Amino acid sequence: MHWNPLKRTPLKPKPREHRESMPWRRAKIRLNGSEMMELRQSAFARSGGRCENSITAKGDRCPVHINWAQFHLAHIESRGRGGSDTLDNVLACCPDCHFEDTRNRHKLLPHRDWIATP
Ligand SMILES: [Zn+2]
Repeated sequence: MHWNPLKRTPLKPKPREHRESMPWRRAKIRLNGSEMMELRQSAFARSGGRCENSITAKGDRCPVHINWAQFHLAHIESRGRGGSDTLDNVLACCPDCHFEDTRNRHKLLPHRDWIATP
């Protein structure tokens, strides 16, 4: 009997496993301007007026007080690396902490008592 290539059973696609090492595969949440303002308000309310970043690897909270006019809403995992615009991926922080993060000197790390979505 001849083998008919047209009658081969079709190849089943392998189920694609979710790989955490490929952040760009994860669904990203992107907000528009007014939604971003709401996120900013939520993060500021959560912060209680204090920078949410930590200044040590142990998670000691940055002591700087922040106010609505000057605080920075910083992404823990940056948008460029696939981070979402969600409350659990942003910190309300002081400009200095955000600057240290963008300069890669001290990456953002939520302080140890931080609760992402209170
Ligand atoms: Zn700070």
